[in-house]
Amino acid sequence: MRHVRHLAGRIGTRVRAHRGERRAALYVASRFRRLGYRTKIRTFPVDGATSRNVVAWWPGASRYPVVVGAHMDTVPGAPGANDNASGVAVLLETARLVAGKRQARFLRLVAFGSEEYGANGAHHVGSQSFVARLGPRGRRKLAGMLSIDMVADGRPLLVGSFGIGPRALGRLAYRRVRAAGIKARYTTLCDCSDNGPFERAGIPAGFMYSGPEPNYHSPSDTPRNLVPRDLVRSGRAAKAFVKALRRDLVRRLRRH
Ligand SMILES: [Zn+2]
Repeated sequence: MRHVRHLAGRIGTRVRAHRGERRAALYVASRFRRLGYRTKIRTFPVDGATSRNVVAWWPGASRYPVVVGAHMDTVPGAPGANDNASGVAVLLETARLVAGKRQARFLRLVAFGSEEYGANGAHHVGSQSFVARLGPRGRRKLAGMLSIDMVADGRPLLVGSFGIGPRALGRLAYRRVRAAGIKARYTTLCDCSDNGPFERAGIPAGFMYSGPEPNYHSPSDTPRNLVPRDLVRSGRAAKAFVKALRRDLVRRLRRH
């Protein structure tokens, strides 16, 4: 909740390539670094201005990582507590829980910019830029991707994929969440979060999500309207997935 209050309260609206998104990127990068992760801020152009992804990895990380990501940006006028400070908070807390542990080596943690962008056929620009930048070799090395987006709004947790790319990761995440005793439903959704570009590139990718909800893209998407109990649940779900990461499993994912 401290991360949510900082992002959606102190910083507030974080529109692509604007000051709020930049402040969020600097905040997220500093949190990763404080935990012992290496970080890079990758810039990319949007609307003739500069947007950012924050990429973090543990020193000595595996060459075949799984990306766990959440977008930092908001639509104009929305403080974006649930959409998506909740996902970024889960990302940072997951990073804290596995820092220095075996699982950290299998992770590439990414806070995406410019997810909320729907002009000229472009969508999820930060994650698209991340996937494009990998190149064919980098894409082949990536074992999978999980997007955490809108996960603390009083609704049941949905886990799955968009059904565009290999479904192995969405299924694996769902099984792990259920095995940890967390209530969740497996589903196939619209192409509406940062796992989309990964799925389109043939990478096993999936999501954790619990929207839509009444405060979606509205000024009322505030920390007060968040359900802390659900944030904890989603944090536990992400932890269950990440804890399962082992070399053989990552290798199996890559074969899909
Ligand atoms: Zn979102």
